[in-house]
Amino acid sequence: MIRIALLGSTGSIGTQTLNVVERHKERFEIVSLAAGGNARAFFEQIEKFRPRTAALARAENLPDRVKFTANGASYERRDGGITRIFLGEEAYLDAICAEADVVVVALVGFIGVRAALKAARMGKKIALANKESLVAGGALVMAEAERQGAEIAPIDSEHSAIWQALGFDRKAAYKKIILTASGGALRDKKAEELAFVTAEDALRHPNWKMGGRITVDSATMVNKAFEVMEAAWLYGAKKEQIEVVIHPQSVVHSMVEFADGAVLAQLGVPSMEVPIQLALTAPERLETSAARLDFASLGALTFAPVEREKYPCFFIALRSMELGDNYPCALNAADEVAVQAFLEGKIGFPDIARVLRQTLAQTERVHIADEQTLVGEDKKARALAHRLISEGNGTFTA
Ligand code: MG
Repeated sequence: MIRIALLGSTGSIGTQTLNVVERHKERFEIVSLAAGGNARAFFEQIEKFRPRTAALARAENLPDRVKFTANGASYERRDGGITRIFLGEEAYLDAICAEADVVVVALVGFIGVRAALKAARMGKKIALANKESLVAGGALVMAEAERQGAEIAPIDSEHSAIWQALGFDRKAAYKKIILTASGGALRDKKAEELAFVTAEDALRHPNWKMGGRITVDSATMVNKAFEVMEAAWLYGAKKEQIEVVIHPQSVVHSMVEFADGAVLAQLGVPSMEVPIQLALTAPERLETSAARLDFASLGALTFAPVEREKYPCFFIALRSMELGDNYPCALNAADEVAVQAFLEGKIGFPDIARVLRQTLAQTERVHIADEQTLVGEDKKARALAHRLISEGNGTFTA
C-alpha cells in the first residue's frame, strides 16, 4: 500500500491524482489532503478518500460537520470517522505528515517550494508537479533532497518522458535531452500578429487542458524554459545539453540521446494520467484509462526549431537560467504578475516579454542560501513587476 499526502487536491493534477488512486484502490491510500479554498469539492474528497488529516487554506463555507475544540478542528465524516482539519494559509504544511510514503506536490505557485522543502527535509519521496519548487527553489530543494535521501519523481509529461527513457534513474548517463513543446495556442500566428492577441486567444491551447497561467505560459513558451530549468536540476544537465523542439502533435513527450547516438523517445496520447501514476508506482506500470496511440492513423510527426521573434519570452527566461542565483526566482515572480495583468486586460501580450526583460535588468544578484532569502527575493521581484506594469501605462499597451 502506497500512502499518499496530496497537496493541491482540488486542482487539475490533484483531481487526476485522485482518479488514479480510485482506479487502483488496492494499491493506494490517501492519508492527507490539502487544498486552497474550494471547500465543497474538498469535503466531498474527504468523504470519499477518508484521510486522517486535511488542510484548507481559506476557511470559507465550511460544512456543519466541522467542529472546533480546544485542540483544533475536526470533521466528522458520514461514515462516522474523524478527519483532523488544519485551517489557514500555511495549513498545507501540516498535511505533510509522518504517515505518508509519498508527498504529491500539486500546489500551484510559490507555496509549492515550501512544501517540497518540508517533504525533502522529512526524507519523503516527492511526486513533483509544482514548477516553482525547481525553477525558483531548485538549489535548495535538490540539496535538501540529496542530504535526506528523498527521491524526486517528476509528474510533468516531459520530465516523466525523460525519466522513462533513462530507465527511471535520474543519475543515468546520457548525452543530450530533447524537450518537445507544442508551441502553445499561438503557434500558427505570425510574429507581427502577436500584438493583438487577447487572453481568450492565448487560453486556447491545442493539445492540453490546463489552468490559466500555465496555458499563457505555453503560448509564450516561458513554461518550456521552466521545463529546461527543471530538467537541468532533475537530470544534472547543463543548458547546452538540453535542446527544445516544437512538436505540434504532442505525441513524443520528450527524448534522450545517449553517447552512441541512439535516441529513446516516449510517446503517447496526451494524458496526465500516465505521468501521475508512474510518479507513484515506477518502475512498475499499471493499467490506465489513457487512450492508445494508433500509428496507422497518426500520419506525420513533425519537429521544428523555436523561433526567436515569435517566442521572445522563452529566450528571456533561459537567460535567467544562465544568470542563476535569484534570477530564475525573479523571472518566475515577474511572469506570474505579468500573466495575471495580461489575463485582466491590463497589458498586451507583447508586454509580458517587456516586463520579464526589465525585471531581469533591474534585479540585483543575490545568492539563495536559505528559504527566507528565496521568499524575500520572490516578494521583491513581484513588487518590481507590479511597479513596471503600473509605470508602464502609456508605453505598455493593453
Ligand atoms: Mg509540460
